[in-house]
Amino acid sequence: MKLFKGRVWTTRGEYKAFVVGDERIRWIGMNPPFEEGSFFEIVDWGDSYIFPGFVDSHAHFTATGVDSLALDLKFVKSKDELLGLVREAVLKRDRGEWIWGIGWDESSFQDKAIPSRADLDDVAPNNPVMLLRIDHHSCLVNSKAVEILELDENVEGVSYGWLRAEANEIARAKFWEMIPDEVIEEGIRRATELAISKGITLVNALEGGEWFSNRALNKLLEMKESLPIEIVIFPQFTDVDKVLEYGFKRIGGCVTIDGSFGSRTAALLEPYADDPSNMGRLYFTEEALFAFFSKAHNANLQLAVHAIGDRAIELTLKCYDKLLKAFPRDNHRHRIEHFELPPPGGIEKALELGLIISVQPFFEILWGGPLGMYASRLGERWRKTNPLKTMTKMGLILAGGSDSDVTPMDPLLGIRAAMTLPNEDERLDFDEAIRLYTYNGAYAVFMEKERGDIKEGTWADFVVVSPDLKEVKATYIKGERVFP
Ligand SMILES: [Zn+2]
Ligand SMILES: [Zn+2]
Repeated sequence: MKLFKGRVWTTRGEYKAFVVGDERIRWIGMNPPFEEGSFFEIVDWGDSYIFPGFVDSHAHFTATGVDSLALDLKFVKSKDELLGLVREAVLKRDRGEWIWGIGWDESSFQDKAIPSRADLDDVAPNNPVMLLRIDHHSCLVNSKAVEILELDENVEGVSYGWLRAEANEIARAKFWEMIPDEVIEEGIRRATELAISKGITLVNALEGGEWFSNRALNKLLEMKESLPIEIVIFPQFTDVDKVLEYGFKRIGGCVTIDGSFGSRTAALLEPYADDPSNMGRLYFTEEALFAFFSKAHNANLQLAVHAIGDRAIELTLKCYDKLLKAFPRDNHRHRIEHFELPPPGGIEKALELGLIISVQPFFEILWGGPLGMYASRLGERWRKTNPLKTMTKMGLILAGGSDSDVTPMDPLLGIRAAMTLPNEDERLDFDEAIRLYTYNGAYAVFMEKERGDIKEGTWADFVVVSPDLKEVKATYIKGERVFP
């Protein structure tokens, strides 16, 4: 048995010590009722916090890992610097090997010039090159990539090597089909290491789907049991039969009912403040959404869908309402992901239906407040986005996540964000913020009996955090230290 001491957070208040044996918590309290000699190890973390292992309830896990292997172009300040990085990468690779980068942004280039296909051919004549822009909505390619991806020379942008919109989507999907297995495996290992270094021991991985390559989903499924952290996959399909064939118990994730505020595609009840002719888009009709919900629900699956704008949330709630009236089921734990701008009465409805809300508090730090992107898109409605305190006080269960790699897979970032939201009225207190990434996260995937808390019988997964909530000092899984 091992004895751990520190400021131990639990859903029942703070304790001072706990005992681990056979991978689980055996005892928790203030003063251990055992002789010190009965432990083969005593670890005193002093005034550091010890939390249950963190949960990231919404991460695009394999993409996070695979993207982390790309050339990082976020800090590039000119076209020449960009070309220099590609030239350097060519030297480190074999002829014909892919060179792949993410994050360039010409608005921060001194000359604003975008390198052409010919420029890339000069520095990389024999390696295919694909460089994604920071928003992932366009990419640069050279001639070798055009050849290998079999892109049509007549498609807009191909001759200059700058692919946008649909051409970009097609190129990316083809590229994902070509990533070698080892690269996907390496990406999954990298994402796992990253998660552990941030104290995550349970992650909801939103993977694959009708619009993506499913190679990464399949690879994750194959590797999952050999990885130290617990991975719960949300397959992002609307094809219920396919999900049942795989044997999943849940369906959805970022299955989009609408788009996002940033691209003005989130569906609103009132027009965008900076585009009065636009109310965003719904990607489902009521009939189609209800048909999807009822088929999945009646196959006993847990549902999760992405709804951001008030009009999309209203439609989603309406379909859940109809569903649960037609086919009542206790303890379904169906979810809505994001739920950023609830419509009038929407919080009450979600509570009445027993839905779980999956939130990403760090979005507010990036885009909230009177001067943020939400305010320019929504005007005064920025005050109503992500009402974490209102929802918590009313009794909704909020599960916290990152939407990685939209924001980093880092629960402490999310916890601090929830406590410092730009809208002061909606800030959570310490205890509520911790719950988002522990107990509520476990509850959101039916795992609260074994995870998300430190009590007798739970797995001994826990994370040691500095008193200022800024640093993960150690991560333990089943009682063993796995980080650092
Ligand atoms: Zn989403
Ligand atoms: Zn997402």
